[in-house]
Amino acid sequence: MNNARSHDLFTRARELIPGGVNSPVRAFKSVGGEPFFAQRALGAHIFDVDGNAYVDYVGSWGPMIAGHARPEVLDAVARTMRDGLSFGVPNALEVTMAEAITTIVPSCEMVRMVNSGTEATLSAIRVARGATGRTRIVKFEGCYHGHGDSFLVKAGSGVMTLGLPNSPGVPAALADLTLTLPYNDFDAATRLFDEVGGDIAGLIIEPIVGNANCILPRDGYLQHLRALCTRHGTVLIFDEVMTGFRVALGGAQALYGITPDLSTFGKIIGGGMPVGAYGGRRDLMSQVAPSGPIYQAGTLSGNPVAMAAGLATLDLIRVPGFHDALERSTHALCDGLEAAAREAGVAFSTTRAPGMFGLYFREGPVETFEQAKQSDTARFNRFFHAMLERGVYLAPSAFEAGFMSSAHGEAEIAHTLEAARQSFALVR
Ligand code: PLP
Repeated sequence: MNNARSHDLFTRARELIPGGVNSPVRAFKSVGGEPFFAQRALGAHIFDVDGNAYVDYVGSWGPMIAGHARPEVLDAVARTMRDGLSFGVPNALEVTMAEAITTIVPSCEMVRMVNSGTEATLSAIRVARGATGRTRIVKFEGCYHGHGDSFLVKAGSGVMTLGLPNSPGVPAALADLTLTLPYNDFDAATRLFDEVGGDIAGLIIEPIVGNANCILPRDGYLQHLRALCTRHGTVLIFDEVMTGFRVALGGAQALYGITPDLSTFGKIIGGGMPVGAYGGRRDLMSQVAPSGPIYQAGTLSGNPVAMAAGLATLDLIRVPGFHDALERSTHALCDGLEAAAREAGVAFSTTRAPGMFGLYFREGPVETFEQAKQSDTARFNRFFHAMLERGVYLAPSAFEAGFMSSAHGEAEIAHTLEAARQSFALVR
C-alpha cells in the first residue's frame, strides 16, 4: 500500500503539532505505524491523500451516522454560509435546533448549545455543582467525558489507550473531588452513596461505555443509579455525546427508559461541524446565565453553519426505520466477524448497540471495564493493520467503539467480512 504522501505530511506535522495530530488517538500510537491523511470521504468510505480507499468504521468518531458528504447536509451548509459564517447575535437556526433536541429528547426541557462534547460535560458539571451547592462528582472507570480537568481521572478513550488515565496538569485538589466507581457494579454504587451521597453534586456516566470499547449496562443498572441519585439529591447526568441520536433516535435514555436530570450531546447534532449541547430539567437549566447565576458562554456557540449541518443530519435520521436498519447492519457485521474469528480459531467476541460496537480479542461476555482490559491488544493491533491493508479502517485503538452509518450496506459489510476472514487467519 502506497502511503508516501501521508508519510511526508506526518513527518512535517510531527515537527509542528504535538505528536503530529490535533487529537491524540489519531496518531496510531497504540496500534503502531503512522496514520493516513484524509483527502475526502463519501458514504461509508474515506480516501487518503495517496489514493487508498477504506470502508470507514470510525465516521469521524461518531458524527457521520448518515454517511460522509451527504448532499442534503452539504447543501444546507452551503446555503447557510452564503449569508455569513457567524453573527454573535441570536439566529433562527438555534431555536430550530433547541426545538429539535427538546422534542427528540423529552428529558431536555431546555438546552444550551456549545462547541464540543468537552464543553458540554464541563458545563453540565458546573450546573450540577451550582444547583446543589455541593462539590464532589462521581464518574466511572473507563468512561471518557472529554478533556476537562475533573474528568481526567481513571478516564477511557485516548487517555486509556495511551496509558495516561490521570493527566499531569490536573490539580490534585480538583481530582480529589472526582470519585470513581466501577461500571456495572451495583453494590459499589450503593456503598459510595451510603457513605457520601449527601456530598455528591452530580453523577456523570456514559450509559453505554463507548470509550472503553463498548460496554452495555447490566439489566437494571441505570435504573439503580437513577434511584440512588434521586434518593440523595444528586444530579444524574447522561453523557450521550456518543450514544445520543445513535443507539436510538432519543439516545440511550430512550433505549433504556431512564430520565436523567441533565444530558450532554455532541457529534451527530453537528453533522461533522464542531458542536456540543447540554440540556435537561427546566429548574436546573434556568439557573444558567443570563437567566440564572451559573456562568457559561461561547463566542461561536449556536453557530449557524454548524446548526444547519446538524439539523440536516437530524432530518436524515428522523425517518421511520432508520435506527432499526442501523441495528440490523450492526448485527450483520458483528455476527459475521464472530463467525470469521471462530472459523480461524481466534478467541474473539463483540458487544453491540444499534450503530456502535466493540471488538475484543478474548472470549465474551464483556460487562465490566476489567474484562474489557483483558482483550489481547497486541493481537488487536495486528488485526487492525491487516484490515487496514485490506481497505477497512477500524478505530485505531483496542479501546474505542466502532461506528456504523446508514451508508454501510451489504457490499461494505461483505468487503469487511472477507477482509476479516483473511486478517483473523493472519493473527491466529
Ligand atoms: N463525552 C463522550 C462520551 C465522548 O465520547 C467524547 C468524545 O469522544 C466527549 C465527551 C468529548 O467530546 P469532544 O471530543 O467533542 O470534546
